[in-house]
Amino acid sequence: MILVEPNPLPIRIHDRAVVARERAQAARAALADCQLCAHHCGVNRLAGEQGLCHAGAEARVFSTQLEVGDELELLPTFAIALSGCDLRCSFCITGAESWNPRVGEPLCTATLAAQAEAAMKTGARTAMILGGEPTVHLPAALEIVAVLPPSLRLIWKTNAHGTALARTWLEGLFDVWLADYKFGNDHCAERLAGVPRYQNVVRENLAWASHHSELIVRHLLMPGHVDCCWEPIARWLAAELPAVKVSLRSGFWPAWRATNHPELSRPFSLTELQSAWTIARSYSLRLIE
Ligand code: SF4
Repeated sequence: MILVEPNPLPIRIHDRAVVARERAQAARAALADCQLCAHHCGVNRLAGEQGLCHAGAEARVFSTQLEVGDELELLPTFAIALSGCDLRCSFCITGAESWNPRVGEPLCTATLAAQAEAAMKTGARTAMILGGEPTVHLPAALEIVAVLPPSLRLIWKTNAHGTALARTWLEGLFDVWLADYKFGNDHCAERLAGVPRYQNVVRENLAWASHHSELIVRHLLMPGHVDCCWEPIARWLAAELPAVKVSLRSGFWPAWRATNHPELSRPFSLTELQSAWTIARSYSLRLIE
């Protein structure tokens, strides 16, 4: 059982920018000993050192767009994608474009604020900060939060591989955490994404998020990984977080280096999809589209 503190009061909307701006300064200073994600590299990014994500001190933006392909209740969303990621999932659909922190344009918060205003006029109800993995660029993400229109609901789209330190700076600022739970055991996480201790880290993040914001747990179904990954994830969610919304994604495509793993060389099958839904129903998960 994971213990988390009681649900705190959310930060009032009109305080959001002030709090985000203050925390951004603290988070930026902490890049001198980077502990933002569970790799705990401890490198000085302000001095040009690089950890496993290879990110520097400044963030770049590889995409901004009005997104309509995410969970229906979040749409339309103005999606801001920061370059760089701390994981290297073999099947990453965007590949180097998302995990290479050198791609995209330098972050300009004034430009993003103007784009967000324009997006609202065309129907955006929410703004989503994602990556790559936005935790890698937490100072920049907080600077973005500080300039976004206060009426937009904010979504933190994350791989749930951040640290307790990162969470202290995120607390109360985002209305929704949209968090991936990718692998149902540490062996698959290590083999497919090169990440150790995955279960402990992701479960700690999800438990925390469920007490500090609305949480949607997303799982991308992978071919050949229903029994070893989806079933244990579903079982854990049912036991520990039965009230959270679960988004089961079936659009796996063998992108990037997926073909290095024989079972990932094909799309997800209809038979597997039926099996995955049977598992979800057997645990009475709160599925959303
Ligand atoms: S964000 Fe994570 S991977 Fe990148 S330097 Fe910091 S601790 Fe290392």
